[in-house]
Amino acid sequence: MNASANSLYDVVVIGGGGAGLTAALYTSRAKLTTLLLEKLVPGGQIALTDIVENYPGFPEGITGGEIAQRMEDQAKRYGTQVAYEPAERITQNADLFEIKTSGSAYRARTIILAAGASFRTIGVRGEKELTGRGVSYCATCDGAFFKEKKIAVVGGGDSAMQEGIFLTRFASEVNVIHRRDKLRASPILQDRARQNPKIKFIWNTVVEEVRGEKKVQELLLRNLKEGRDYAFAADGVFVFIGHEPNTAFLKGFVELDEKGYVRTDTGLAASVPGVFAAGEIRTGAVKQLVAACGEGCQAALAAQAYLEHA
Ligand code: NAP
Repeated sequence: MNASANSLYDVVVIGGGGAGLTAALYTSRAKLTTLLLEKLVPGGQIALTDIVENYPGFPEGITGGEIAQRMEDQAKRYGTQVAYEPAERITQNADLFEIKTSGSAYRARTIILAAGASFRTIGVRGEKELTGRGVSYCATCDGAFFKEKKIAVVGGGDSAMQEGIFLTRFASEVNVIHRRDKLRASPILQDRARQNPKIKFIWNTVVEEVRGEKKVQELLLRNLKEGRDYAFAADGVFVFIGHEPNTAFLKGFVELDEKGYVRTDTGLAASVPGVFAAGEIRTGAVKQLVAACGEGCQAALAAQAYLEHA
């Protein structure tokens, strides 16, 4: 069934990553009318991940795209309606909420905020101009364009290691540029990256500029220890330096922390009664798929209990 404008739902879930899809599965199975709003594709960040190796039950791993699609199919099987429209504004009238999207508006008795977070950009000259022309934030999407090319990966966390390893399938050389001399990534991914002959590390270094005429040709790097700037030839640069919460549309509606994440109590209730938050959008969330799914379940049960007592 398609979502219809102005319909009243028991639950509107905003965001279709692991947290949102699990929340929708649980509320639908509890026979609560459920609409899930997603801006792009099901799965959120997980859909952009090559392989998920730490979700229990998949000993061989499963691709991000496949697990996301399976989660969406599962939620829909129990009645979740999905609309591919980003939420733009929420208002409250008595005990009902109205969610305005790019093209429509929906009403809800409760809301589960699960819009997650988006990749952080470096913020240097040339980065924006050359995005899609050598600057990328998604190895799964763009890796194949870099067959036998020399590329750079910026970051020292799990994403940089995991995606850097994936990129060695295509690139001739993957240079990990990290601002310190110690990686933040988990030991297992560190080991795998260090053992990969195609991966080289450039320590204590930041990107100061991305240069190129029509596509990326070189990076201006700064070695922070030596205070030395130098040009580094590269055909592409993949940026994995963490995330920013997708909460711009929530400013003034619910309480956010100083970094923009949604504050919740231990029961995942946000500052407005009837509004809950789950997954990476939330202050203090553990940024793992399995944890996001767990929080989605918890938020769904909390919304159900709220509706029973409303
Ligand atoms: P992250 O853990 O926050 O790491 C970000 C990395 O980028 C850090 O090494 C950081 O350096 C660096 N960085 C941040 N801002 C920078 C800037 N402006 N310029 C240069 N470098 C910058 O982010 P993530 O790797 O995307 O991971 C996010 C979360 O998802 C983590 O909790 C991670 O464990 C999880 N995750 C898990 C898996 C997995 O389990 N397989 C895979 C992907 C992600 P510093 O180290 O100096 O701060």
